Amino acid sequence: MDAHADAVSTVSEISKSSAGTLTVFPVPAFQDNYLWVIDDGKDAVVVDPGDAAPVLAYLDSRGLTLRAILITHKHADHIGGVDALLERFDVPVHGPAREAIACVDHPHHGGETVHIDAPAMTLEVIDVPGHTSGHIAYFLGAGAAGAPRLFCGDTLFSCGCGRLFEGTPAQMLASLDALAALPPATLVHCAHEYTLSNIRFALAVDPDNAALNAWHQEATALRAAGRPTLPTTLAQERVTNPFLRSDAPAVIAAAQQHVGQTELSREAVFAAVRGWKDTFR
Ligand SMILES: [Zn+2]
Repeated sequence: MDAHADAVSTVSEISKSSAGTLTVFPVPAFQDNYLWVIDDGKDAVVVDPGDAAPVLAYLDSRGLTLRAILITHKHADHIGGVDALLERFDVPVHGPAREAIACVDHPHHGGETVHIDAPAMTLEVIDVPGHTSGHIAYFLGAGAAGAPRLFCGDTLFSCGCGRLFEGTPAQMLASLDALAALPPATLVHCAHEYTLSNIRFALAVDPDNAALNAWHQEATALRAAGRPTLPTTLAQERVTNPFLRSDAPAVIAAAQQHVGQTELSREAVFAAVRGWKDTFR
């Protein structure tokens, strides 16, 4: 427990929101997961608790009561702590309807609205298949936590996207298009600290992208200071993330060169870049 408490305390408080009444905090777990906790100073919600101990340490350190659990997809590093949290807190578990997850008692397909009384908030559920076939994301509109907030599991990362374990490139591209259509100011709460390795690949695709090079410097400094690079913003991802830029001339040219073909469709560009990243070292 001490180790977990230390891990929590080393994450900079800087990533908390000061606008709005809700705080959003990345509880670190495993190698590079963030278990996002949203709270109003009294009551809390956790997104994708892959491990219970660091979540409980954070809740206890701030005197918070857990009121709900939100799950984006079935992978163990996103659900592994749910049962232990339910032993202490009898709370609803929201999650994907299209995936078999025993602990989910509020299944969602996408398009639903999730109302939580405490902390008071309303989230929109978005269907984002690709990484897994039933993957969902949660969108919290502007107001309660300052800027709009997106909790997207393993679908969108800073300068990256999830591996296609179950979905097709077309499905993932449509899912990323749906997320990219959210307001530019949306803060993107990805489930992993993959930013620097993703940027290394993004620079191989799009080396002359000034915004990407600037983000590389900023993210490197954040990590050197022991701070998370997340949340990122959709505005930043739209100009730096090669998986949101399948129609950018530099990304198209790189994809064409990688697969040795011209006249690639937008979907083929996306598929080429996704396949390239799968084997990139
Ligand atoms: Zn996953």
